Amino acid sequence: MTPVKAEILAVGDELLYGQTLDTNSHFISGELDKIGVRVVRRTTVGDNEADILQAFAEAESRSDILLISGGLGPTSDDLTKPCLAKHFGCGIRIHEEALKEVTEFFRKRGRELTELNRQQAALPECCEKITNPLGTAPGMWFDRNGKIFVSMPGVPHEMVHMMQTEVIPRIRQRFRLPIIAHQMVRTAGIGESFLAEKIAPWEQSLPPHIRLAYLPSEAGVKLRLTTFGEDAGKIEKDFAALRESILPLAGQYIFGFTDDPLEVVLGKLLLEKGLTLSAAESCTGGHVSHTITTVPGSSAYFLGSVVAYANEVKINALGVNPETLAQYGAVSEQTVAEMASGVRQRFGTDIGIATSGIAGPGGGTPDKPVGTIWIACADRNGVETRKLQFANARLVNIKLTTTAVLNLVRLRIKQ
Ligand code: ATP
Ligand code: MG
Repeated sequence: MTPVKAEILAVGDELLYGQTLDTNSHFISGELDKIGVRVVRRTTVGDNEADILQAFAEAESRSDILLISGGLGPTSDDLTKPCLAKHFGCGIRIHEEALKEVTEFFRKRGRELTELNRQQAALPECCEKITNPLGTAPGMWFDRNGKIFVSMPGVPHEMVHMMQTEVIPRIRQRFRLPIIAHQMVRTAGIGESFLAEKIAPWEQSLPPHIRLAYLPSEAGVKLRLTTFGEDAGKIEKDFAALRESILPLAGQYIFGFTDDPLEVVLGKLLLEKGLTLSAAESCTGGHVSHTITTVPGSSAYFLGSVVAYANEVKINALGVNPETLAQYGAVSEQTVAEMASGVRQRFGTDIGIATSGIAGPGGGTPDKPVGTIWIACADRNGVETRKLQFANARLVNIKLTTTAVLNLVRLRIKQ
């Protein structure tokens, strides 16, 4: 079964100038992906006839479906409709039903129908009208030589409604679509290139119908496998085999095979084991606690935290020994270990975690450059520490540290 290929065209000068973020294309991509239509290209053009016509011709030559948003308004800068008429070689005429709808739209709002508004009801003769209950510009559906063009308004909420209630159902009816399936592999504690090296044999073993994407972020490197097919059972069998075969190569880094982030996975693990957690945060300034508490139900295992930024707070609120601070400094293995033990003891939790480091961009020294961060995890068996070395982007360091310390807890519980 060959995949149905779609392209998305966003029309509007404001998109090219950077005044408006093209959220429409992003949304349309996601909706098509869900029904197994393969989006192969996204294009943006300005309010310019030659560019719009060229984009139409190119998309028609390459793909089965073109979804267009924007440029439907009644003003002279909105060119999508005349361009569609030109492309399909047909005239534009008042569409009686569309005229009724737009008249009604204005009547309900107690407003007069101007000639410009009346023109909203003029449509190319070779299209089917798509009703737009939220606005005045109807959508248009063209079907010629097996290719579909759909034109939708640029106003995001109008486009979203039209996609969901009209366009997606029509596409499903018009084409025979495969099942599209994704398998996530969530990792933490390893960079993209190191992970790629470790899993190279696995990657080489992927059958051609399964595509792999590396999606790195501060929350870890996400691997996403994508496949199209007709047999859901066969797809699941392929994915199950791949989940199995990646484990010997990178099992220690993998925290899940769903889209659940690390804090959710860790929360489930803590619940399952009946363990409680507290945190002592210096350089992360509360970000670790914030991340943990974004999970609904986290109160069942997370008791609280101390943001111990100043040395006095590390001493007074966590019981860090002043001599440790004097001898090794705040950013040291010894201090972070005492912070983790201290918070664990004072909060009476099974596990205490701590962070201390130089988030940057200032504050580095030759032996402790910016991005030097210590993390610790204390439990009844002792304290485990790790030194992290990142670069000098402050917020990135805070997020990377959060991921690293949550992952440290996960690994320690798993042991
Ligand atoms: P209508 O005639 O219903 O007003 P239209 O098709 O004329 O719609 P535009 O005039 O192109 O739409 O844009 C309407 C609004 O939607 C503008 O504020 C514009 O910035 C915004 N918009 C247009 N295209 C996009 C897009 N791709 N993503 C997000 N916003 C968009
Ligand atoms: Mg526009």
